[in-house]
Amino acid sequence: MTSYVFITGGVVSSLGKGITSACLGAILEARGLSISMIKLDPYLNVDPGTMSPFQHGEVFVTHDGTETDLDLGHYERFVRTAKGGRNSNFTTGRIYESVIRKERRGDYLGATVQVIPHITDEIKQSVGKGAGDADICLVEIGGTVGDIESLPFLEAIRQMGIELGREKVVYVHLTLVPYIATSHEIKTKPTQHSVKELRSIGIQPDVLVCRSEAPLPDEQRRKIALFTNVPKDAVISAYDVDDLYKIPEMMHAQGLDDIVTKQLQLDLPEADLSEWQSIVEAKRNPTSEVNIAMVGKYMDLKDSYISLSEALLHGGIHTRTRVNIHYIESADIEEQGAGCLENMDGIVVPGGFGDRGIEGKIVAVRFARENGIPYLGICLGLQVAVIEAARNLAGLDGAMSTEFHRDTPHPVVALITEWQDVSGDLEQRDEGSDLGGTMRLGAQQVHLAEGSLAATSYGATLIEERHRHRYEVNNNYRAQLEDAGLRFSGTSVDDLVEMVEIPGHPWFLASQFHPEFTSNPRDGHPLFIGFITAARQHHEGILPKVAEA
Ligand code: GLN
Repeated sequence: MTSYVFITGGVVSSLGKGITSACLGAILEARGLSISMIKLDPYLNVDPGTMSPFQHGEVFVTHDGTETDLDLGHYERFVRTAKGGRNSNFTTGRIYESVIRKERRGDYLGATVQVIPHITDEIKQSVGKGAGDADICLVEIGGTVGDIESLPFLEAIRQMGIELGREKVVYVHLTLVPYIATSHEIKTKPTQHSVKELRSIGIQPDVLVCRSEAPLPDEQRRKIALFTNVPKDAVISAYDVDDLYKIPEMMHAQGLDDIVTKQLQLDLPEADLSEWQSIVEAKRNPTSEVNIAMVGKYMDLKDSYISLSEALLHGGIHTRTRVNIHYIESADIEEQGAGCLENMDGIVVPGGFGDRGIEGKIVAVRFARENGIPYLGICLGLQVAVIEAARNLAGLDGAMSTEFHRDTPHPVVALITEWQDVSGDLEQRDEGSDLGGTMRLGAQQVHLAEGSLAATSYGATLIEERHRHRYEVNNNYRAQLEDAGLRFSGTSVDDLVEMVEIPGHPWFLASQFHPEFTSNPRDGHPLFIGFITAARQHHEGILPKVAEA
């Protein structure tokens, strides 16, 4: 039977509850346990897919095509056995939607439908579904204790502690212990209050993870233990570290995995954290460095590209390269030109929606293509690469995606239902196609052309990667674009373009899918390792500086 670890947060938001949960998953997995991970989000949106990434960070797409909270990305990066899917992320909206649907169907047989027990029961069932058959299920509750929104979730997890028994459930509470610089004091009061709040709703935490700038002195740990009724050993100090991947070791060193497994009465081998240690070691001792330009919009909100930034860093770990990511506003390139790209060793155009800065991205692709700078295009980054080649290699003036210009004379990227062949006839095969206009989501197979850069990077000709997009490269332009120098090196089972490259260019590869969602620090990802390797060669002057004509 699955045991549960519930992770709540207090004092303030943005303490890194997702990372903490993921790292706890990592050290428990290192004891030989299988882990499932769930995120409960107190907001009313039914799923995060409709939320602006600029408010809420990236939308992470799971294997089964569920659009989830970015914390699920942390889980998958830190925990191999945690495979996210439709039952790994529940919002208040989704819970209510399900209860209301049942009520409309008459499932409650006329009973008065209430938060307790109907909503709380729905939450418990959802958690049970997400847990699967893992040894331990870690459940992170979004928001901060004391918020009105999170109360039904907290009530549900309180009940689970009683129903399953205290040897099956561990409550971990994450708080902030601030340091007041002017008086040189470490303040434990907010933690005391947060635990008081949690206890007032019936949850006594078993473990406190205290975020602070510096390691928590013994005196403060003792004080927190005394006031919160948590054993001193279970007051864990999660102090700031310069590298995320040091956190599993930091938590293990303070015995966090022991505390959890003891309470769950599990007799297990020691944690093997050697892989995490090698990552930290690799990051500490790079043998070279690269400057990578990521050209997108709203680049000050880096959380919207978190998986991609991480994947680039993973490429660095596996090639012993320090990866300096420069976030560049594509709108700035539109105004000031591509000068800012001159000293870059690699250029990435990430996924995106909406036309702001689109021309700047096209300029960035051209700059990479003409100057032999390694280019990696992701989703929209593939589409702009195709547009750029159409305009500047194939001479298709005004080529564009219909997402940004409905009446473009050359819709080289368009919804399938909008594909017209070059003579103006609407493409036959797509009439009534249910792909048109809907989002292509989740993992799908991709065939890679033998001998292509794509196939050699992956070391395979059949791969599976995750998608999240509506528009597709228009197959009616493929022959023309190929004649002009593009190679369509990856295609889907239904012959949609999945990967594009430019033979003769030192390293130019773009994908319609999102490889960043399947990259993790321990294994890296072939595309990112290949890209960083090329960027490194560019940095060291080994790569030709210009593309072959
Ligand atoms: N906006 C583009 C589309 O919908 C690209 C999406 C993306 O980059 N994720 O096809």
